[in-house]
Amino acid sequence: MASAAAALPAVSAAPAFANTPPARTGAQAPGWFRSKVGDYEITAISDGFVQRPLEGFVRNVEVAEVQKTLAAQGLPGTHIRVPYTTLVVNTGSQVILLDSGNGDFAPGANSGQWMANFRAAGFTPEMVNKVILSHFHGDHINGVRNKAGQLVFPNAELMAPEAEWAFWMDDARMNNAPDAMKPAFQNVRRVFGPSADKVTRYGWDKEVAPGVTSVRADGHSPGHTVFVIASGAGRMMFMADITNTPVLFARHPEWQVLFDMDAQKAIETRKRLLDMVSADRIRSAFYHGPFPAVGQVSRDGGGYRLDMLPWQDAL
Ligand SMILES: [Zn+2]
Repeated sequence: MASAAAALPAVSAAPAFANTPPARTGAQAPGWFRSKVGDYEITAISDGFVQRPLEGFVRNVEVAEVQKTLAAQGLPGTHIRVPYTTLVVNTGSQVILLDSGNGDFAPGANSGQWMANFRAAGFTPEMVNKVILSHFHGDHINGVRNKAGQLVFPNAELMAPEAEWAFWMDDARMNNAPDAMKPAFQNVRRVFGPSADKVTRYGWDKEVAPGVTSVRADGHSPGHTVFVIASGAGRMMFMADITNTPVLFARHPEWQVLFDMDAQKAIETRKRLLDMVSADRIRSAFYHGPFPAVGQVSRDGGGYRLDMLPWQDAL
């Protein structure tokens, strides 16, 4: 005991090396992550995250239950972290963007890095041939048009789900909507209004780009759509908001997130698609998963588990 105690003061002795302060407190490497699906190059681009309070986030379970699920994954039980991750699909002949991030309308200081990350990955807005949108919630469409009112991707065809368009662009529905929901309708008009006649509207089960097929996923919103990307033997599903963070809603597909517009339908859709990617071993990319949110979903107990793809040193 005496010798161990004697060794302790060495800790407070003068350091052998100069103090090295953190380079920039809280900074991370640029948020982009490349993987391949067949011949297609897939790049996940981070738009950071927003931190939300636990209270009210999951509608149908107690906060203590949510905390238990977070703790089981080594996560703090004080808040929910909701990241934003878009996908760039480079087919070799087309650069396709799946959802646009928050653009100039970032909800807080931890988001708003999308363009910097997109450029760090080697892209410019001019390179984008198509922007295909999953649904019309602001965090998915706001990057399409900047604060000055200009389209951010000047050469891109904008593609939107027909059912989503029918719901949000209906003026009578907007006028009759509760006040809390009116800003969402107005935001859809801000994004698309000036270019409404140029937006291509697509249905479900359609090839919206070479190797990219739209899949019905309503519930989260009336026209919510996910996409299967297929090249060679490779397949990936862009899950959009099938779950909010999979940390909670893949583990517990019957939990209802605050933002699901038709909670019961969202649960059915969530189970159907998580079942599909598990059974058929289709890789998944989650819009609101912890970055890069790309990996394999498997059935696990009563829910599902996402095993993230390991870091890819080379593709
Ligand atoms: Zn979302």
